[in-house]
Amino acid sequence: MQGKLFLIVGPSGSGKGTVIGRLKQKYPGFVYPVSYTTREPRPGEVDGEVYNFISKEKFKAMMDAGEFLEYAVVHSDNYYGTSKAQIVEPLEQGAVVIREVDIQGFFSIRDMIPAEHMVSIFMKVSDMEDLRSRIMKRGSLPEDEVQKRLESAQKEIAQAGECDYQVENKWGDVTNCLATVERIVLEEIKDLY
Ligand code: 5GP
Repeated sequence: MQGKLFLIVGPSGSGKGTVIGRLKQKYPGFVYPVSYTTREPRPGEVDGEVYNFISKEKFKAMMDAGEFLEYAVVHSDNYYGTSKAQIVEPLEQGAVVIREVDIQGFFSIRDMIPAEHMVSIFMKVSDMEDLRSRIMKRGSLPEDEVQKRLESAQKEIAQAGECDYQVENKWGDVTNCLATVERIVLEEIKDLY
């Protein structure tokens, strides 16, 4: 294995998707694996861009076929899984690979990928009210769904210290957060090439 995998971790609404989207625009040469999920697409989400949206049956078939590097049930009802082929193969070829996962995905992958080929970045949000409004902005989630995400957020934040880096993403300050993540990535890959 020669490449480096960057896992972006942090609660729902912490801005992981936004940061990765901007990195993708600026660094199209990095690999951005498309995960699989059984959740419904949100308005504006395109199948095959960040996720492949699939049925539970198809997900189970992929699980049985050993196609996932890891998979997890997130927010208690939906499956999310990273594709082994989309992560391990590029790493073997020396690529820089960037993917967001939940904290369970991070722990699973940490057990499988050698430490020198993996960097984890936790996106911190210190204000829970701020996080609630970001989650609510995503669309009309019922109150119990918002609550579920806030509970998952508390659990994830409690484990932030397990990650290599923690980056604060303050409301309205994504540019600063992005610049910090970018600095980390560039520093971590400087010996790769
Ligand atoms: P959302 O439904 O808001 O897009 O994602 C819910 C959570 O699942 C987020 O924390 C997101 O980072 C995480 N997630 C996205 N893709 C994967 C994946 O492939 N594996 C795991 N374990 N979590 C994922």
